[in-house]
Amino acid sequence: MVAFLTKKRYNIRMLPSDHSERAMRRAYWHLLLREQGHRLTSGRLAVVDCLLSSERVLTAQDIFEQARHDHSDLGLVSVYRTLETLEELGLVERVHQAQGCHAYIAVAGGHRHLLLCEQCGRATHFAGDELEALMRLVENQTQYRIHQHWLQLSGVCPQCQRSGT
Ligand SMILES: [Zn+2]
Ligand SMILES: [Zn+2]
Repeated sequence: MVAFLTKKRYNIRMLPSDHSERAMRRAYWHLLLREQGHRLTSGRLAVVDCLLSSERVLTAQDIFEQARHDHSDLGLVSVYRTLETLEELGLVERVHQAQGCHAYIAVAGGHRHLLLCEQCGRATHFAGDELEALMRLVENQTQYRIHQHWLQLSGVCPQCQRSGT
């Protein structure tokens, strides 16, 4: 099943919402790791599973604590190394927060941006940014040629609004 999965054909749309989609993403991550010469150790697989099953942003410490339940031999250093590898492969992104950029989330496919709950860490991706006009304006003001942008929004999610905390 893994053999026919390619980056091009497998278009990741949103955070994993059901089991089959999560299984597809997991297979794709495993394939990409192997292709890039990374062995699928049980520790790496545990980190991958934590990230793919989380709706919230996770720090290395969060992942370490979750994964340690099933992998008592997992070390914090190998969690950091695996996160680095996954970031290099473009599978996870670092999340900007007031206390620093120490948390990670699985990336969404296509051109999407992150919306983060400041209270519970829940992460949602959204499409659409309407930044073209702004970028042209900034180009005119600064004489730069702008190639890229980085956008992340934060606020309070509906669940946290309801619980009134
Ligand atoms: Zn929340
Ligand atoms: Zn954008």
